Amino acid sequence: MFLEQSIMDLKGVGEQTIKKFNKLGLFTIQDLIEHYPKEYEDRRKITKIQETVMDEENNIIATVASRPEVMKKGYKVIVKFRIKDDTGSIYVVFYGQPYMKNNFIVGETYNFYGKIRRQYGCIEMESPEYEKVDNGITQKANKIIPIYPATQKLSQKVIRQLIEQALSLALPEVEDVLPAYIKELYKLKSKSFALTHIHFPKDDEAFFEARKRLVFEELFLLQLSLFVLKSEFLSRSKGISKKVPESFKAFVEYLPFEFTGAQKRVMKEIVKDLKSDYAGNRLVQGDVGSGKTVIAAASLFIVIKNNQQGALMAPTEVLAKQHYEFLQQVFEPFNIKMALLTGSTTAKEKREILAKLKSQELDLVVGTHALIEDNVEMPALGLVITDEQHRFGVRQRLKLSEKGQTPDVIVMTATPIPRTLALILYGDMDISIIDELPPGRQPIKTNAVDSSYHARIYQFMDKHIREGRQCYVICPMVEENEKQADLKSVTEYTAYLKEQVFPHFNIGLLHGKMKPKEKNAVMEAFASGQVHILVSTTVVEVGVNVPNATVMVIENAERFGLAQLHQLRGRVGRGKHQSYCVLVSDSKNKVTKKRLKIMEESTDGFVIADTDLKLRGPGDFFGTKQHGLPEMKIANLYTDAKVLKEVQKAAKSLLEQDKDLSLPEHQGLKVKLLQTIEGEQMHTAL
Ligand code: ADP
Ligand code: MG
Repeated sequence: MFLEQSIMDLKGVGEQTIKKFNKLGLFTIQDLIEHYPKEYEDRRKITKIQETVMDEENNIIATVASRPEVMKKGYKVIVKFRIKDDTGSIYVVFYGQPYMKNNFIVGETYNFYGKIRRQYGCIEMESPEYEKVDNGITQKANKIIPIYPATQKLSQKVIRQLIEQALSLALPEVEDVLPAYIKELYKLKSKSFALTHIHFPKDDEAFFEARKRLVFEELFLLQLSLFVLKSEFLSRSKGISKKVPESFKAFVEYLPFEFTGAQKRVMKEIVKDLKSDYAGNRLVQGDVGSGKTVIAAASLFIVIKNNQQGALMAPTEVLAKQHYEFLQQVFEPFNIKMALLTGSTTAKEKREILAKLKSQELDLVVGTHALIEDNVEMPALGLVITDEQHRFGVRQRLKLSEKGQTPDVIVMTATPIPRTLALILYGDMDISIIDELPPGRQPIKTNAVDSSYHARIYQFMDKHIREGRQCYVICPMVEENEKQADLKSVTEYTAYLKEQVFPHFNIGLLHGKMKPKEKNAVMEAFASGQVHILVSTTVVEVGVNVPNATVMVIENAERFGLAQLHQLRGRVGRGKHQSYCVLVSDSKNKVTKKRLKIMEESTDGFVIADTDLKLRGPGDFFGTKQHGLPEMKIANLYTDAKVLKEVQKAAKSLLEQDKDLSLPEHQGLKVKLLQTIEGEQMHTAL
C-alpha cells in the first residue's frame, strides 16, 4: 500500500532530509499526510507598502527598483536593494547570503513576505520569503499557508512541498472509515476533502469543515476504543464479594487521626464496590494533601482480611517506598505480610518476592510499574490500586487487573480533570471525590517575588530551619530529557547554597539523572530530618510526603505550568505547621504575572486549573505527555468539547446497533479501531 511506503519513495528527498523527518516521528507517507499544520499564515491580504506595519510580518507585491548590491555591515555580508509599489518604497535585506544578489531582476515583480523593521532611518524587510510573480500569478500570495511543527533544520518549504506531493499521490488511496450515515447525520465532509483543506485550506469555511471532520474522527476512534475496552472489561468483571472484617474497626482506631467527612464518604463508596460481586472500577480524585493514601490503606486492609491479595502501584520509586513505609506503620499490629518491589530490588530478592506472591505467603505488594510484568503472579489478587494515575495508561491499568481473580480497581489522582474530559478518559469508571482537607491545615501562604528577594528568602528559610522545620528549593526541569545546562545549573545552585549561603545546614540534591538508590538515600535523609534543605527538580512533584517541610521555594516559576506549581506546592502544608510557598520569577510577561497571581490567591486545584485554562488557553495545561492524557493529532480535549459530545452520542448509538462492528459499513472502522487499541497510541498516550 502506498500509504505505508516510506517517505523515501517521494521525489527529491535525500538521506539527510529523511533523517530530519524521522526525527519528527515521520516515516511513512501516511505519517506525512497526518502531520497537520500547527498554524497558518494568511497571505490572502496583500498590503500596500504605505500600509505595512512595523515589526510585523507583511505580505507585499512589489517591483525591484534598484540593482541588488553586496556590501559589508560590520563583519557581515549583506545584500540590499530597493523595492516599490504604487504607494511607496522600502529596502529588502538579506544577511550572509551574497548569492541572493543574483536572484532578483530590476523591473520584475515579486511577492515578498517578511518582517519589516526600521534600521538607521531606513525601512527594511529582513530576509523575506519571496517568489516571482508571473503575469499576476503567484503560488503563495492570496493563499493560506500552513506552518508545520518542525525542527530547526527542516525548512517549512521542504515540509510543505513534500506534503503537497504526498497528498496528491495518496488521496485516491485514503480510506474513509466513517460510515456514510454518520457523516450525513453530523454534517461531516469526506476524508479526502478534510486532508486537502487542513493542509491547504481554500478559505475559512473549508478549513473549519476540514478540521471538524478530522477532530470528529480522532475523538470518535478514541471514544469507541474506550467503550470497547470497557465492555471487554465488563464482560468478565464478575468479581468476588468481600466483607468488611471485624478487625476493620480496630484498624481505623489505630490510625493516628480520624477520617475527614469526605474520606468517610469515599470509603463508603469503595466499600460498596468491594461488597458487590462485581469488580469495582473507581477513580478517586482528591486535591494534593487531601489524604488519598490512607484511603488506599483502608481498602487494602479490607481486601487482605478477606484472604485476598492487594497491589499498590506508584509512578516513582521514591513514592512507592514512601507508601510502603506508611502501610508498614498502619498495618503494624495486624499481621499483614508485605513486600516492596521496584526497579532497584535485587534479582535475588525479587525472585523470593515473586515466589511468595505466587504461593500467597505475601498479602500485599507495593511497587512501581515493575508490578505489571508478566512474571508477577498473584493468584488471590483482589484489589489493585494505582496512585497518581495520570502517569499510567489504560492499558497498564488493565494489565494489572488481569491478574488474580478479577480484582477491584481503584485509581487515585490529584489532577483536577474537568467533567467532560473525565467522561471520555474514565468513561468506564465510577468517580469519587475527596473534596475536603484534613482539619487543622492552614492554607499555604504563597508569594510571587522577583530574584531581588533572594537575600530575604534565604533569611526566611534560615529562620524556619532554626525552628526545626525543613525546606524545598525547586529548580526547573532536568528530568529524562534534560539539557546538560539545566543539570549544571541545579548542581551549581546546590553548591552555591552549600558554600555561600547555608554552610551550617545539610543540603541534599535530587534530580532525574540520579540512580534510584541515590534518590532514595537523599529522600530518606530528608524525610528523617537529617537534610534541612532539599534542592530538587520536579521529581518531588508527585506525592512525596514530608509533613515537617514548611517552606517551598520555586525558582524560575514562570517555567512551570500552574498544575505543576500546584502539585509542587502541595509538598508543603502537609502537617500542623503554617507553610509557605515562594515563587521566584523575573518574567515581565503579563500573562505569567497573572498566572503567578492565581497561585497567590487560590489553593484550590480546580480553581487554579480553570483559571489557567482561561488565561493560557487549552493545550498548555495538560498538553504534555507527562500528564498521561492521550496525545491528539488534531483534537483539543478542551475546546472541542462540543464535538466530544456528538462523538459520545454517535459512538454509543453505533455500538448499540452493532456491538461487534460486524456490519459491512463498519469494517473500515473496525480495522482502524484495532490499530488504535493495539498501537502505540493507546500504550503510551492513554
Ligand atoms: P494525597 O492525597 O496528596 O496523597 P496524603 O495521603 O499523602 O495526601 O496525605 C497527606 C497528609 O495528610 C499525610 O501526612 C497524611 O498522613 C495526613 N492525613 C490524611 N488523612 C488525614 C486525616 N483525616 N486527618 C489528619 N491527617 C490526615
Ligand atoms: Mg498521594
